[in-house]
Amino acid sequence: MFTKILIANRGEIACRVAATARRLGIKTVAVYSEADAQARHVAACDEAILIGPAAARDSYLRADRILAAARASGAQAIHPGYGFLSENDAFAEACAAAGIVFIGPPASAIRAMGSKSAAKTLMEKAGVPLVPGYHGADQDGALLRRAADAIGYPVLIKASAGGGGKGMRIVETSGEFDAALASCQREAINSFGDDSVLVEKYLTRPRHIEIQVFADSHGECVYLFERDCSVQRRHQKVLEEAPAPGMSHERRRAMGEAAVAAARAVGYVGAGTVEFIANQDGSFYFMEMNTRLQVEHPVTEMITGTDLVEWQLRVACGEPLPCRQQDLSMSGHAIEARVYAENPDKGFLPAIGTLHYFCQPPALEFCTPARPLTAAAVAAEAAVATRPVVRIDSGVAQGDAISPYYDPMIAKLIVWAPTRDQACVAMVAALAQVEIAGLATNVAFLKRLVGSAPFRAADLDTGLIERHRDALLPAPCPASRHALALAAASILAAELRQAVGNSDPWADVGGWRMNSRLTRTLRFDDEVGARAASIAYSGDHWTFTLDGKSDDMLLVAAEGQRLALRLGHETVHGNAVRVGEMVHVFVDGEHAQLHWQDPMAHAGELEEEGGRLTAPMPGKIVALLVEQGASVQKGAPLLIMEAMKMEHTICAPHDGVVAELMYAVGDQVADGAQLIVFALGATPAAA
Ligand code: ADP
Ligand code: ADP
Ligand code: MG
Repeated sequence: MFTKILIANRGEIACRVAATARRLGIKTVAVYSEADAQARHVAACDEAILIGPAAARDSYLRADRILAAARASGAQAIHPGYGFLSENDAFAEACAAAGIVFIGPPASAIRAMGSKSAAKTLMEKAGVPLVPGYHGADQDGALLRRAADAIGYPVLIKASAGGGGKGMRIVETSGEFDAALASCQREAINSFGDDSVLVEKYLTRPRHIEIQVFADSHGECVYLFERDCSVQRRHQKVLEEAPAPGMSHERRRAMGEAAVAAARAVGYVGAGTVEFIANQDGSFYFMEMNTRLQVEHPVTEMITGTDLVEWQLRVACGEPLPCRQQDLSMSGHAIEARVYAENPDKGFLPAIGTLHYFCQPPALEFCTPARPLTAAAVAAEAAVATRPVVRIDSGVAQGDAISPYYDPMIAKLIVWAPTRDQACVAMVAALAQVEIAGLATNVAFLKRLVGSAPFRAADLDTGLIERHRDALLPAPCPASRHALALAAASILAAELRQAVGNSDPWADVGGWRMNSRLTRTLRFDDEVGARAASIAYSGDHWTFTLDGKSDDMLLVAAEGQRLALRLGHETVHGNAVRVGEMVHVFVDGEHAQLHWQDPMAHAGELEEEGGRLTAPMPGKIVALLVEQGASVQKGAPLLIMEAMKMEHTICAPHDGVVAELMYAVGDQVADGAQLIVFALGATPAAA
């Protein structure tokens, strides 16, 4: 076995490869870009080498720098993960030339499957069924249109070099063909540097079913059953599961054997995936082969009890496959959900930002060594085969950024349970525990999707999301009463904590100016409109009022962002996270995003031109802390106002001079009234 490998990737796949290597006692070398110096994958490896600036073409796609890093660190092999250089035959060749093992198939197999057109020609010869279509070398426009006419509409034009859902056009009629072809070719040349296309029959309501294959260098090749990846948006996978619902033994064997034939036809070695498009009647056709590990490989690991990265490492150093076809079996059902930084309501547009808060369900931690990695292993070890298992593969931690440079995937949530129904329930429960604040995500969308009737009924096809768009992407609804109660309580808890020092705020509530009955109104904007929640307190007794309904409120516990409230007869548990002026409340599976109209947030912000300091809200002046003409430093307390039953200190926004005090103690001031004329620098404004 290798003693040291280099991982030529980042994010969750780099962390995942490192975890297996560690378990096998193999040292790991990370490579990273300038944007990733603090990344989790760097920490997950034993060594790390900087390979260039953030842009992938200057770092993770620089074969020369990665090979130099491998040589410098003495790594015997390179694991390419997926994306980046994983399907680059020239890189596989360069590794071989440098005497370093490329953990993947031979360059010739990558090349053979690299063009969808050439791959289809090969598959035709190997007797693998193809979608009716044209995949010839002649790219004459009129010829392509005649081919489309002969196939019958709708047809799909695909970039031969395409991938990642790019370079595809659906054409409904012959008249639209030429324009669609031109636009597909444009995208193909821009994205892949190659404008050759193929034309296929466009299947309506198809399923995407793919077969995991594995071959060793001794001529053995097996299939590890199927994954159903039909639930897609923009021709890209969102949910993947194994096994495929409704798959019969006979069809599984037929598809498995077709996939093995495809792999054998190109002299395949290592992990690969043969993607098929299947009709509802079960007929299936070869679509493409991905000559690498696939993002969704964990669902296969979960049902087969294998570690596919371990298999890759063993096969790459010349060992035979760990088992034969007849030794492989499946148990239970696994589902993977891809948690993306994206906006489902804006056409699933990727989002960027900082993960200010990232809380995950308790799970089998992939990066912890010496813990079993698969559901079957857990089941065998703890005899808990009846209990769902959650696995999270993620390459980011709280505080990290999702940058515009790389894939916007935040994490993969994978659940395993004895049955599909149980796995669906477990996935919804697991997603309800994924709490992210700081950027847009698809978590709420995924929860609705996994819980939706068509998904629960396994009524799968690639159009599922589009067809059920209205139900899956409902208009935003007002934040719940529980959410607003938690938001209000969290704000008051933070203020009390500040007011009484860092001790338990709730113990001290009575002692903190709580001798009279006070009411505080907190204004928020939720995703629909303005909300006002008020809390009245006298002694240690609180009353919460929202939308005209009042309840006794008692804060039972406040620990960091975790709160427990008694609200009338209910106990409400949730997390409230402040990010700037936003309060994110996670309660009852809801993620309420509340913009708090903090009256103090802009207090003390100097309006530069006028040198005015204004009242943040209507109130009464209770103390003047400086005299007219005084020179003060930035942050110095100037006066105290009482407003909304609280005291607020107005501080100097800059170093400067108090040119004029406009009010005296006891005066009532209106919202926005100028309190102080404040001059920058040391010269009094009057001078
Ligand atoms: P496909 O949809 O092409 O069958 P997958 O769904 O397995 O393949 O992966 C989608 C693509 O996303 C991969 O081809 C890869 O280019 C890209 N990708 C996903 N995660 C990463 C990552 N962490 N680093 C680089 N590329 C990634
Ligand atoms: P990529 O390289 O981008 O993964 P694929 O050829 O694998 O491209 O196709 C991606 C997706 O496009 C499939 O999963 C499927 O949803 C859809 N698709 C591809 N070919 C067809 C077809 N002939 N008919 C209908 N849908 C198709
Ligand atoms: Mg594909």
